[in-house]
Amino acid sequence: MQLEQLRAARERLLEAYAVVRRTVDEATTELAVAVPEARLAAESAGRRVELDDDMSVDDIEAELDTGRFAGLPLLDVGDDAAPEDEDEDEVEDAIDDDEPAVEEDIADTSLGDTTLAEDVLDDAAAEAGEGGPVSDIFSRLRSGVPVDTAPEPDVEPDAADSDADLDQDDDDEDREETVLERRDRYTVVLERDLGRALKRRLADDENDKLDLIRRRSPKDGAEVVVGDLALHREGFVDAVRDQLRAAGLAGTQFAAEVLSDQDQEPAAVDSVGIDDLAAELAESLVDPIRAKTVELLDGSEGDDALDGVRACYRQWKGRAGELAAQYVHTAFNRGVFAAVPEGTMVSWVVDDGADPCPDGEDDALGGAVVRGEGFPTGHLHPPAHPACRCLLVPGVL
Ligand SMILES: [Zn+2]
Repeated sequence: MQLEQLRAARERLLEAYAVVRRTVDEATTELAVAVPEARLAAESAGRRVELDDDMSVDDIEAELDTGRFAGLPLLDVGDDAAPEDEDEDEVEDAIDDDEPAVEEDIADTSLGDTTLAEDVLDDAAAEAGEGGPVSDIFSRLRSGVPVDTAPEPDVEPDAADSDADLDQDDDDEDREETVLERRDRYTVVLERDLGRALKRRLADDENDKLDLIRRRSPKDGAEVVVGDLALHREGFVDAVRDQLRAAGLAGTQFAAEVLSDQDQEPAAVDSVGIDDLAAELAESLVDPIRAKTVELLDGSEGDDALDGVRACYRQWKGRAGELAAQYVHTAFNRGVFAAVPEGTMVSWVVDDGADPCPDGEDDALGGAVVRGEGFPTGHLHPPAHPACRCLLVPGVL
């Protein structure tokens, strides 16, 4: 039964891979044909412009028709031979409108497994070489940025001058985004590492437990498999403690960076207390896993228990990333709080990138508070709830 499911899953994976592979191959072939054609056409058009200033835009466009391709330097002509500005714009507009069909084909290919698709795109981009039009397309596909969407200027100069409040709001938003990005520089790697550490610990634990289940004799109770609770939790604490310490220290470094921008010194911090976080994280994994294991061992036999235990660990491994994010952010904010000197104003910056955060919105709307005096919802610093990604930032934002 399980073997069949595995086979079916593997076949679906191979099918998905084949679709992506085929689409990428087709796109690459079309690019291989289209790029040299476009280059030839562009060179030809460029030469014609040099020779004949009177040549119309329509004529040039007809010349380019065979090889239009987004992102290619179609025209490379000297100043003296350049068409009038207006004409140039028309040519550019016409080229901008002409998106390569092959890209749309790839983008429209619906795939359940985006990771697989991204991997294949990575491979294909690597094969195509960096820096060329092909690799540009692959990076755009990966980032999901529409082709040829030139960034609009944020604010018209006139509008900015005429509305000081709007201008101020824009500035504030920019600053907040910058602190969140700055935070991410630290936390992205920490989250990834803690997530990996959790998955490794879960996989090792799973192997131990499966082994014990296979070897236990019928008269053995479930406790032979689950073992000592304190030791079990301690194994998980050991697996996450260093990562959480690193997250706390990263928070102090972030705070020092921001304070230094405000010409302030951070408070001296030897270490950020995270032992309770490590214990809580270990408990939140170990306790439900043990309960489920006991339930399965008492209520089922042989392979059923093994399958059930595997499914249980799989479920928790699937949540490792989410738990890692939650605990890294908690430790990080503790680090920020620890490194902000007494009496300094601190601000609550909302990050609702993943989910809206009503509590965080309340705390942010209340404005900056003196460190330690608490935000409107009573929190000294984020997070306001387990999935909260808000950030404590020194200063009045
Ligand atoms: Zn929040």
